[in-house]
Amino acid sequence: MALPGHRRTSGDKRRRASHFALKKVQTTSCAQCKKAVLPHHACQFCGTYVGRAVLKISAPKKKK
Ligand SMILES: [Zn+2]
Repeated sequence: MALPGHRRTSGDKRRRASHFALKKVQTTSCAQCKKAVLPHHACQFCGTYVGRAVLKISAPKKKK
């Protein structure tokens, strides 16, 4: 039966856990409506990308 080769010390555990934190999602602000949008994505709120309309927005979405 497989067993762990060595005891995992609390230092081992904490060193491994140092990489577990989640990173905050990076956003940029829309040039048109100034809302937070993902970089290199069209704005979901006003449907523009680099100043030109690329999406048809039927109902304006609520700001989160
Ligand atoms: Zn926008």
